[in-house]
Amino acid sequence: MNNIQEQWLADPVRKAADEGPDQLSLVPGPVLDWLPGESLYSLLARNHYFRGHRDPSHTVCAFFGTLTGKSHQKDMTEIDVFVARTGGALGAARQVLEERTLLRFYRIFMEGYENTLLEPGRLSTDSILKFPTGLQTGRFRTKHPLKGCSACLERDARQIGFQYWRLVHQFPGLWVCLEHDRALQEIQIKPKAQQKFLWQTPAVERLLPVSCAVAGKEGLSKFRSLAQLIVSITSDKEQGIRYLTEARGRFCRYLSDAGFVLPSGPLRSVYKNQVADLCVSFVEFVYEFRRHPEFKALPENAVAAFRLLSRYVNGRSVVRPLERVVITAWLEQLTLPNGLSIYSYKR
Ligand SMILES: [Zn+2]
Repeated sequence: MNNIQEQWLADPVRKAADEGPDQLSLVPGPVLDWLPGESLYSLLARNHYFRGHRDPSHTVCAFFGTLTGKSHQKDMTEIDVFVARTGGALGAARQVLEERTLLRFYRIFMEGYENTLLEPGRLSTDSILKFPTGLQTGRFRTKHPLKGCSACLERDARQIGFQYWRLVHQFPGLWVCLEHDRALQEIQIKPKAQQKFLWQTPAVERLLPVSCAVAGKEGLSKFRSLAQLIVSITSDKEQGIRYLTEARGRFCRYLSDAGFVLPSGPLRSVYKNQVADLCVSFVEFVYEFRRHPEFKALPENAVAAFRLLSRYVNGRSVVRPLERVVITAWLEQLTLPNGLSIYSYKR
């Protein structure tokens, strides 16, 4: 089965000239159901080909009721419209957002902010699909490449005839399929200026080579550990938030007990006492990760590590989700100068 066709979504400024009179009527014709762990983007991409749509905007129109995907319903989000048009058969709004979009990853970093995403006018259709790239605050604005595991895709083709994108594989920082212990590979999409979105289902032959950062034994091992941490903290929202909070709390407690923080809160200068050793330890930990493009912004020297760890400790500055995940992974394996682990400290 050929699942590698590609289509572009309509130009965002294009007028929805043939919008139906009733945006909330059911999707006409057959609709494919979810596959295990499938993302919303993947479901719509598969439906696009299954339903034989030629124009990408026809798929948007089928599931969101307008060619642009925009909700014209008072007090209804685009995802509410999607739920109405699928008769609730594919899940309720929160269920779809939390189980089928990257909100599942980002919700543990949002501290209640995710509730506002259920308010009308907060998300456009393309930001739901690419969520949360188009989030209004832009706080998590980042690249989200589509990634797949060759073993998963080969099995899909063999067993179900559909190759699909797994949501968990799309999580930022996750580059190993834990089921097959194999590096994930990116499929490159290069939208042109007027083409903001692309429907594409995965295929093994379209996968780019494995990043050299993950290819070796040591790299695979480090990225595997990170993937395990990401899957663990994202599987349950409350537990994930607690885990991240406790890791930071224990680190702060240790720094305070050791006299590494100033009374006003910030970390003491990198060039004094053992804070410098901690920064060096962090730089060494992220060395392998930094070979991967997604992790390039991580600190390359002790001074940069000092800045990042200071932001992490003071609790008032923005620390990006991927930075928090990597710091948490570093803390997990850190042996403190007193020979103890960070987990020997109370919160
Ligand atoms: Zn796999």
